[in-house]
Amino acid sequence: MATTNSQTKPFKDQYRHCKDTGTCYDCGKKVGKSNLNGSAKCPTCYSNHLKYSQAKRVMRHKNSLCHYCGSSNIVKGLKHCLKCGDKMKAFRKGYSQKVKRQVFAHYGLHCECCGEDGIEFLTLDHIHGGGNDHRKELGKAGTAFYTWIIKNNFPKGFRTLCHNCNFGCSNNGGACPKASEHSHIRGIRETLRWNRTVGDIINTGNKSIKENQ
Ligand SMILES: [Zn+2]
Ligand SMILES: [Zn+2]
Ligand SMILES: [Zn+2]
Ligand SMILES: [Zn+2]
Repeated sequence: MATTNSQTKPFKDQYRHCKDTGTCYDCGKKVGKSNLNGSAKCPTCYSNHLKYSQAKRVMRHKNSLCHYCGSSNIVKGLKHCLKCGDKMKAFRKGYSQKVKRQVFAHYGLHCECCGEDGIEFLTLDHIHGGGNDHRKELGKAGTAFYTWIIKNNFPKGFRTLCHNCNFGCSNNGGACPKASEHSHIRGIRETLRWNRTVGDIINTGNKSIKENQ
């Protein structure tokens, strides 16, 4: 039977109550907020939970079942079924878009050189160079690197560039080889963005006028 929102809600409420009062969700013991782990379990219940899920994974692995849902419809050579694989992919994609949006909301939502504003085209440029070395040193790239930026409170020394300008800069001693042409394009894109914003405002206005009629 599918669980509905109304069925899961009491659990969620109980869970939140446990977190707020420092009570273990599993055994009901009051251990204090600082002794609860992220899933509202006391240390004993948490370690039991880890042992249990570890044993479950080993059992599923032995029986060639999906590690996550136990389905026998496992994808050849992988640890999960197609459905769980899709779920994980969607989750990862959503997460990576979320952190990217957060990072560019801070450093700028368009390329500082050419004004490109498609988030898929944007990257974070180390203003003083050495980006590749820094990423290697951290051992983080892509989403992991953006997460590092957020965790470190958006450090100084970065700016938003598109992949093209970033590549051009790093191959041209730090300056985009098409900087003057790109500054012209940036102006055009700024006008386009402005027109889009005005268009959106007019559209929303028209819509609310219609709705109120
Ligand atoms: Zn407990
Ligand atoms: Zn599965
Ligand atoms: Zn650019
Ligand atoms: Zn450029």
